[in-house]
Amino acid sequence: MGVNAVLQGATALGHGPAMNSVSTLAGGGDGGSQAGPDFRHVRVWLFDLDNTLYRADCGVFAQIETRMTDYVARFTGLPRDEARILQKSLYRAHGTTLNGLMTLHGADADDYLAYVHDIDLSGLAPDAKLIAAIARLPGRRYVFTNGCRDHAARILDKIGAGHLFDSIWDIRTFDFIPKPDRRAYDRIVAEGGFAPDQAAMFDDIAHNLVAARALGMTTVWLNSGSAFSHGGPQAADAPHEHADHETDDLPQFLSSIRI
Ligand SMILES: [Mg+2]
Repeated sequence: MGVNAVLQGATALGHGPAMNSVSTLAGGGDGGSQAGPDFRHVRVWLFDLDNTLYRADCGVFAQIETRMTDYVARFTGLPRDEARILQKSLYRAHGTTLNGLMTLHGADADDYLAYVHDIDLSGLAPDAKLIAAIARLPGRRYVFTNGCRDHAARILDKIGAGHLFDSIWDIRTFDFIPKPDRRAYDRIVAEGGFAPDQAAMFDDIAHNLVAARALGMTTVWLNSGSAFSHGGPQAADAPHEHADHETDDLPQFLSSIRI
């Protein structure tokens, strides 16, 4: 499967309902355009947080990554370059650096999460187009993040979107077993009590969409163009195979869909 049509800010992939051009749909009405991607079956909206609800190039997640490496160096006593290598191997093998540190090294989750999320969020600001696009989505909306609730709440506050979500499902919600592990998705489906085929999931890491799609969710890949976005832990497949839709512009995509 490949990309069928590359459009302005949005790409339709060869799976799911037939889609036509979305390049003319930005700012559509409550129902979106009649020609936009069809999300009329969706009543539960699951959004990853970092690099999904804010742009990957704003520098926020880069700070978190730096502090992850700092934490691994502090915790293990390794030089920073070796700590970076260890961090990446923990991420690949355990889904998150934290899960690897907890499993192999007995790290304290609260200490880690407080440290890595102690960052400067001044680069974030409310995005009126994103707020309007999310506000029009019918049904329930959730944040589904491998990060922690406090961090998510701070981010949502900075982008003016806190009031748009019913709940934040964070790493504690799924007992520190992170995306892309299927058990994380099973947990949130049980928590929310919804049918997966009525849900849509948005994530910048393509591999995080695998379990969502296997469960029957409609999947949207926020492709930031980075290796990180294409990869993710245990990445081996072509990203497109896990995504029903692809975009590099979340507000535009959400404004274009049929709901
Ligand atoms: Mg993300």
